[in-house]
Amino acid sequence: MQFNHDNMTGARLAAHLVGLVPEWSGSRVQRALAAHDIRRPELDDRAVAELLGWTLVVREVFAATSVADTCAAVNRLLQQGTRTAYLSTHDGRRPHLHFTPEDDDLVGRVRSVTAGGLALFVVEAEGRRLGLCARPGCPRAFVDTSRNGTRRYCSARCGNAVAVARHRDRP
Ligand SMILES: [Zn+2]
Ligand SMILES: [Zn+2]
Repeated sequence: MQFNHDNMTGARLAAHLVGLVPEWSGSRVQRALAAHDIRRPELDDRAVAELLGWTLVVREVFAATSVADTCAAVNRLLQQGTRTAYLSTHDGRRPHLHFTPEDDDLVGRVRSVTAGGLALFVVEAEGRRLGLCARPGCPRAFVDTSRNGTRRYCSARCGNAVAVARHRDRP
């Protein structure tokens, strides 16, 4: 399966934010927004708190275990997080969808890019390929763009840790 990486900013940002929840802070959120090309990522305390609330709703998409539940969770995001839909070519980029007016505030733009981005990804991935890391205690989420789509961990590091623990526990 080939994914259009231009469409994936929102899904990747969503997964990144979910992984920050246990250690949520303004500086971490700021770095995540900058890493995913969110423009004008100036945060104040109110925005940091509002984005935490939003990220807890976003997390439900990654926690969903059936296609129907995934779609329902994304629909809640679309309802709460998007205001419109139009194509933009800002900054010389290829045409891509925006889901809120360009002049929306930071929280509104993060909500719309994560809601719309997850919706686009769910369409392409047929409702699968989003999940929470299967290593106990790991808070991170992942977007699975692998060839076979059977990813279960946020990283090779978590997968290896589980394999090592399993080996150690063998009778
Ligand atoms: Zn854009
Ligand atoms: Zn993990």
